[in-house]
Amino acid sequence: MRMVIMGPPGAGKGTQAVVLAAALGVPHISTGDIFRANVSQGTPLGVQAKAYMDAGEYVPDGLTNAMVRDRLSKSDCSGGFLLDGYPRTLEQVEELDSVLAGIGAGVEKVVELTVDVDEVVSRLLGRSAEQGRSDDGEEVIRRRLELYFDATAPLTAMYEKRGLLVRVSGMGTVEDVSVRVLEALGVNA
Ligand code: AMP
Repeated sequence: MRMVIMGPPGAGKGTQAVVLAAALGVPHISTGDIFRANVSQGTPLGVQAKAYMDAGEYVPDGLTNAMVRDRLSKSDCSGGFLLDGYPRTLEQVEELDSVLAGIGAGVEKVVELTVDVDEVVSRLLGRSAEQGRSDDGEEVIRRRLELYFDATAPLTAMYEKRGLLVRVSGMGTVEDVSVRVLEALGVNA
């Protein structure tokens, strides 16, 4: 199963992605996690990505697409994958299509977690206090949300047209949302 999970920052995407990837038996590929790992290891990619991440901006498509292309070429992705936090721009949607077309495949399902904006702001502020992420200050949180709604949320329409989009409410407990996601996809936990 080649899948994508989308949703605004604070929607619980990462948490649900872990559950879903385990249920599907595919690798969970979070571009945010890969970028954070590069930043903490001080790799050249991490050095380039850090300023964008700290400002709540998207890392440029060239860097992001090269990283994802490389990750998807690994053998553990041959039976499928769950992408979390990618694609986020039209160029990334096109890149993913072209990478997959190269192996005669395509995205099979896209889950969009929907949430109430006030709820995600309070979740993100809570997470900021707990984890001290450098991109979780209030102003940056607002920018990340704005960017999601302006640049990324409209992309779901493309997947909807292709008949691939499954919208699931991300409100409620982690367990409630997991049950909803798995049911919506017809996956047994
Ligand atoms: P996330 O953990 O998915 O919210 O990602 C954290 C940060 O990493 C984002 O705010 C961006 O700066 C960067 N990032 C992650 N995924 C992407 C992507 N697909 N395109 C551009 N930037 C990304």
